[in-house]
Amino acid sequence: MPEKVYYIGASDNEKDDILCGKLKEVLKAKDLLGFIVDRDIIAVKTHFGESSELGYPRPVYFKMLAEVIKEKGGAPFLTETSTLYKGNRDNAVKHIAHAHTQGFGFSETGMPIIMADGLFGDEEYKVPINGKMYQTVHIAGLLAKCNALVVVSHFTGHLAAGFGAALKNLGMGCSSRKGKMEQHSTAKPKIVKKKCTGCGICVKWCPEEAISLVDDQAVINSAKCIGCGECLAMCRFDAVKYNWGATYDDLQKKIVEHALGVCSLFREKSLFINILTRISKDCDCMGHTFKKIVPDVGILISHDPVALDAASLDLVEKQSGMLISQLAYDIPSRVQLAHAKALGFGNTEYDLISD
Ligand code: SF4
Ligand code: SF4
Repeated sequence: MPEKVYYIGASDNEKDDILCGKLKEVLKAKDLLGFIVDRDIIAVKTHFGESSELGYPRPVYFKMLAEVIKEKGGAPFLTETSTLYKGNRDNAVKHIAHAHTQGFGFSETGMPIIMADGLFGDEEYKVPINGKMYQTVHIAGLLAKCNALVVVSHFTGHLAAGFGAALKNLGMGCSSRKGKMEQHSTAKPKIVKKKCTGCGICVKWCPEEAISLVDDQAVINSAKCIGCGECLAMCRFDAVKYNWGATYDDLQKKIVEHALGVCSLFREKSLFINILTRISKDCDCMGHTFKKIVPDVGILISHDPVALDAASLDLVEKQSGMLISQLAYDIPSRVQLAHAKALGFGNTEYDLISD
């Protein structure tokens, strides 16, 4: 039976507080947070964005969510995990300070921030799954202690996953450092020497200091490289190559198996919200200049992250009249959905409900 996906349409550049009001109406009218009971502790997972110009979900949505959850008797907190790469978000102290500068203070959201993977990203919980690549995945430890989960994701293109939304926010975003390393382990770039001009941009952007210039050519130290893809995104001369055949498929499947592990902790007590505005070619981790690749689509909501991502991708492609592989990166982009289907995780069939 198809899964229900609720759709709130948006005109291009519609204000977040207007969209947030519409989201609140749907949440209440359909009682989509009806699984919350008195004194439940609710983890609200999102991404605070790398800079204020990018397309991350704005704090206004979380203030509203906090109100609705508290009306149900729940106690919500905002949560995130540390990044693998060095930067503003690679440990809990820096990440929370960064979130505050992005406008996610208690007075703006009504929720405290508690990192799900501890101070350094190493607090984890091993979740058994019946996967095709894993029988156990390493998930951010705090999540195992919560009663319910709400995931608010921003839909974007992605250089290895094709697109990023709920499944990626769950699979990569809710994993411990070890879980993230396991997902990234096979994705390492190479430099095409005849194309490299020695401009040094990749050296500047590499978060791990894994690239150096030798005789005016970039050289990658693969022992230091974490496969984040920042160099690929930043090189203007097409001199950075991934062996996508060996990596995109692998990475997308690993993301989905970790997402399955997270969802298995919550069963019926979860809700997923995708924000399809300010959609960019790269994910919100990439701190470079924001450029919208499709007019705003709106907001989608479901209890099933697989149906939600399937509907989100379909709507983006319908809105633009182009495939996401034409809008963002030219790689197969439906591996996440196909692998979820192969695992019996969620439902790629959906009913779009827009009234
Ligand atoms: S950004 Fe590209 S061209 Fe410039 S040094 Fe790096 S690989 Fe070479
Ligand atoms: S993928 Fe590129 S930017 Fe990322 S760590 Fe490796 S060399 Fe550095």
